[in-house]
Amino acid sequence: MHPSTRRALYRRLRAANPEPRSELQYTTPFELLVAVMLSAHTTDKSVNAATRRLFPLANTPEAMLALGIEGVKPYLKPVGLYNAKSRHLIGLCRRLVEHHHGRLPARRAELEALPGVGRKTASIILNMVFGEAEIAVDTHIFRVANRTGLAPGKTPLAVERGLVANTPEEFQRNAHHWLLLHGRYVCTARNPACPRCVIAELCGYAHKTAANTGGDPRPHERPRQAGVRRPASGG
Ligand code: SF4
Repeated sequence: MHPSTRRALYRRLRAANPEPRSELQYTTPFELLVAVMLSAHTTDKSVNAATRRLFPLANTPEAMLALGIEGVKPYLKPVGLYNAKSRHLIGLCRRLVEHHHGRLPARRAELEALPGVGRKTASIILNMVFGEAEIAVDTHIFRVANRTGLAPGKTPLAVERGLVANTPEEFQRNAHHWLLLHGRYVCTARNPACPRCVIAELCGYAHKTAANTGGDPRPHERPRQAGVRRPASGG
C-alpha cells in the first residue's frame, strides 16, 4: 500500500472514531492487564461479566494473591478455561509482588515472563499503559491488515512488524483499536460490510461485498488453513 493511501486510511478511521476505546472495562493498569490476559479465546463481554464481580473484591496484585486460585475460580467461570486462567492470574500476581513491587514492568521481556502473558498482551500494555509504538495483532487486525493491504503477512508477527514499521507516528497510539473495532464490527470474517465501510475506496480487497449481498469466506480466510497461523481473538 502506498504511504499516502495508508495515511488516508488511518485519517478516515480517526474521523469516524476520534478516541477509540477498549471494550474491556478497567480503571487501573493492573485491571487492564488482568482483563486482557483473561480475554484470550473469549469475548470482552464475558471478561467484563467476570471482572465486574472480581475487581470490587480485589484489584491489586496483593489482594488478588490473597484470594488464591480457589478464591478467584468462581469469578472466572464466565471466561472459559477458568482453571488455567485462575492459575495464571495468581501466578502473575505472585510474580508482580515478588519481582516488581506490585507494579507493572515496562519492558516486553519482563511482561512476557508473567504467567499467562504473551506477545499480544504485552504489546497492548506497552501501547496503552506505557505509550509505546506497539500494535498488538489479534484475529480481527490480522484479517483487516491482510484484506486492505495495509500490512499483508502470513503470521501475526509478520503483520505486527509491517504495521509497526509503516504506521505514521500520529496514528500509532490508536491504530490497534481502530483496526480491531473495524474488524469486529465492519470488516467481519464472513460478511464484511463493504458498502458502508469508510475505507472502501482505499481497500485492496479483491472480493468486496456489494449492497444487500453477503460475503462468504474465501478459501484462504477459513480458519486453520495449513501454513497460515492465526492469532487468538480478544483484545
Ligand atoms: S472494503 Fe470491505 S474488505 Fe475492505 S476494509 Fe472495508 S469491509 Fe473490509
